[in-house]
Amino acid sequence: MPDNPKEDAVQWISKNRSRLIKISDEIWRTPEVGLQEHMSSALLVGELEKEGFIVQRGVAGMPTAFVASYGKGKPVIGILGEYDALPGLSQKPTTRKEPVVSGAPGHGCGHNIHGTTGMACAIAVKEAMKANGIGGMVKFFGCPAEETLVGKVFMVRDGLFKGVDAALSHHPGSMNAAPLLSHTAMNSVKFHFHGRAAHAAGSPDQGRGATDAVELMNIGVNYLREHVVQEARIHYVIEDGGHEPNVIPPYARSWYYVRAPERDQVESIYKWVLKIADGADLMAGTTHTVEFLTGCYNTLPNRRLSELITKNMREIGAPIYTPEEMAFAREISRTIPQEEKVAALRRSKRPDWKELLDVVLDTSIPDPWGEGEVAGGSTDVADVGWQTPTVEFQTTSGVVGIPGHSWQRTAMSGVSIGHKSLIFAAQTMAGTALDLMTKPEVLKGVRDEFAARTRGTVYRSPLPPDLKPPLHQLPPLSPEHKP
Ligand SMILES: [Zn+2]
Repeated sequence: MPDNPKEDAVQWISKNRSRLIKISDEIWRTPEVGLQEHMSSALLVGELEKEGFIVQRGVAGMPTAFVASYGKGKPVIGILGEYDALPGLSQKPTTRKEPVVSGAPGHGCGHNIHGTTGMACAIAVKEAMKANGIGGMVKFFGCPAEETLVGKVFMVRDGLFKGVDAALSHHPGSMNAAPLLSHTAMNSVKFHFHGRAAHAAGSPDQGRGATDAVELMNIGVNYLREHVVQEARIHYVIEDGGHEPNVIPPYARSWYYVRAPERDQVESIYKWVLKIADGADLMAGTTHTVEFLTGCYNTLPNRRLSELITKNMREIGAPIYTPEEMAFAREISRTIPQEEKVAALRRSKRPDWKELLDVVLDTSIPDPWGEGEVAGGSTDVADVGWQTPTVEFQTTSGVVGIPGHSWQRTAMSGVSIGHKSLIFAAQTMAGTALDLMTKPEVLKGVRDEFAARTRGTVYRSPLPPDLKPPLHQLPPLSPEHKP
């Protein structure tokens, strides 16, 4: 049975269930993309202020980023919350593809739940601290623009996580789990090539083709692929490839992501990519500039934190679903091809994944798995994880095999299955935070593990020192950047 402070926190969340669901649903109904989350962040800030938190708004140069603090002294437990939506994923809470407004944003990654679980946890922990005379601080980090890999990297660079003893983050998923898989480090960079316009038939000898440089660079990078670590990923698009065939294009632009399991591997591949861009200039007679958009580290797991989350999930118990909820989930499940479900389960690297092939909503709570394994995507939670021991766990909010960034995910984040996931996750996170606050030996174990994992590595922000957050909108990363 949970001890008293934990019981207080869990009960506060149960008692405030309908208030919390209302907040999540309101964010769900007003989806805002990265760095535009004005209504969503204002809603969370308002609730936290009402509850006595001191809020610093507009931190790290982003109007929708904030830090809400309660208490004083040590330990300091950080809770992360995200609330950005995805373009084009507007969807009604139904079992077939049906946008509310065609082409409008939607919560296709469930961040309406993400932001609300974190906020609920922070308030519940505050209530337990007050009722039981617990010292220390709880800090809620309102983190915008996760989908574009922006918010937390800039917040880290500004030193906002200094002094935080451990950080907890929840993300809606399709399992109740805190796996130990790592996500890749990454750079996101644009190359602007400049040539000289000329009539492509009349005077091509006078032209210098910027598109030639883009293509030559891509060819060079495609030859580079043989000489990088196996797990590295390099992707590009040509954002501007010229306009008319009869004009030698004076300008062209490509956009690259470079990913690898470790930050130093990204840096060495990236240096080579920069040299290839120089080589393309030599061949095409062009010049170019590099626009660094953002970057991140690989995630650092913490086994003790994952185990503590798992223990708290088991103490609380996974949600039970009604026949109506099961019917809704089965309908959604029918829209996902079996092949896709198998691929998603295999990719999870969960040892017992085959047992989930016929499961619609996963109610099991497995032991953490995947230490040393690398998942394909990247997340800015990683950079927080190099400042302080950090865990990001998931709870079942969608059916087994649900694609990331999908209309199905938007639908399920706005119905009672998502609400149950929200309440379960907030209680789990609050219980874990209170374990860390009230049991010094538990926090010490977590911090010792962090010290061992980071020994010999100095975190250097992937961002150039003068880089400002890109307040213009960036498209989101690939759908698989999250478990
Ligand atoms: Zn997400």
